[in-house]
Amino acid sequence: MYARASRGPVIPAPPPKAARAAKKGFPWGIAIGLVVAAGTIVAILALVVFPDSGDSKGGKKSKRKDKTAQEDDDGSKSKSKSKKDEYSAAAEPAIPPSVSDGRVDPKELSRGEGRAVKPDAKEVDLANTISYSADSDPYCKDQARFTDILKEVGYNIDRELRSTSTISEAEEMTIGDAAFQEVTNAKEFRGKIDTPAMAEYRRYIAELAVPLLVSVERKNMVYKFHTIDDPTMNAFAIPGGHIFFFRGILEKPRRIENEAQLAGVLAHEINHVDKRHTIAIFEHLKRIGATSRTGEEIGRIVVAMARHPFSTTQEDEADTMAVKFLINAEYSPKQFVTMWQTWAELENKGRRNQPVDPLEAELEGLLATHSRPERRACNAMRVTMLDKKAEVERYYVGSTNYKQRTTRARRQY
Ligand SMILES: [Zn+2]
Repeated sequence: MYARASRGPVIPAPPPKAARAAKKGFPWGIAIGLVVAAGTIVAILALVVFPDSGDSKGGKKSKRKDKTAQEDDDGSKSKSKSKKDEYSAAAEPAIPPSVSDGRVDPKELSRGEGRAVKPDAKEVDLANTISYSADSDPYCKDQARFTDILKEVGYNIDRELRSTSTISEAEEMTIGDAAFQEVTNAKEFRGKIDTPAMAEYRRYIAELAVPLLVSVERKNMVYKFHTIDDPTMNAFAIPGGHIFFFRGILEKPRRIENEAQLAGVLAHEINHVDKRHTIAIFEHLKRIGATSRTGEEIGRIVVAMARHPFSTTQEDEADTMAVKFLINAEYSPKQFVTMWQTWAELENKGRRNQPVDPLEAELEGLLATHSRPERRACNAMRVTMLDKKAEVERYYVGSTNYKQRTTRARRQY
């Protein structure tokens, strides 16, 4: 399936062993390729239809952002602190008991007013040290305009998908639960999912998701977090709110260094679900009349999602939303930027040290399926500058939390 999928215009080249899965049956690879091609066409159309975001419906988000930026400016000018700016224990949503089973229902979460980061917390980034300009990084200077355009396209696609959606949240969760069974039975994951040895990781991820899930748009989706006992450094999402983290992403030193960075990766995956990226392919199949899928066929599609067959536009949108979620939860967006910069350095280092440096080999799976890390760092910088809140002075980092797998909600360092 991956081999066939790779003939499509966007899906990256697959690992060779995966090609074996594509021998028989309906040519899902081609179907997925077509879907991606259709997505690209929609993207191009959206760009043509809404070239000027300022005057079109596509510009609604930009206008809203401008307003936020304006409000931020006003906020930073005011010298007196309102009560809203002071620490409040209620600003951290209560952890539901279901986290021990990796389950979080956003409807059960609520966040009170005030700041979530305690005044005596040490592992923080001060807001006034978080500042970027496109000129500060030569690569960003070239990318800035490009990512602006892509971002608008992303919103247009998103609006298109949402406005024409025929799959309800309940239906999506049914598809997702069937898909989860198929992932569990898939040869490459069999016996590795939600093992007792990784129960602590699973609880940690689900707990960390709590302050992030407050920001989701689709409150009727219940999220289920899973672990895969495998050293691969990656994470992925499938329909119905099932999100998977490989052991590698939780254990590799220097790849992720603190809770804010892990929260960024987690928020990225949550947004593949919240923004309907994971259900889009099923939406398309339903529309073209290919409605009766066997479990095995659903399985092939969702196992392919482990390789992130999302478009660059969807990746950008998931990152953009991840930064917004981090800021809302008062986790440091600077750490998300730093993570991508570090990964870019590791990637470049790996490339210079040919033949295959272990660092490169480790990052290979991730880079084959995601946008370039430099590009993602630039996007994260830009969104950070647009969405940083004037009333928040300290954003949480949590290096010790990440090492000890104890969320900020339990203890702030
Ligand atoms: Zn992604």
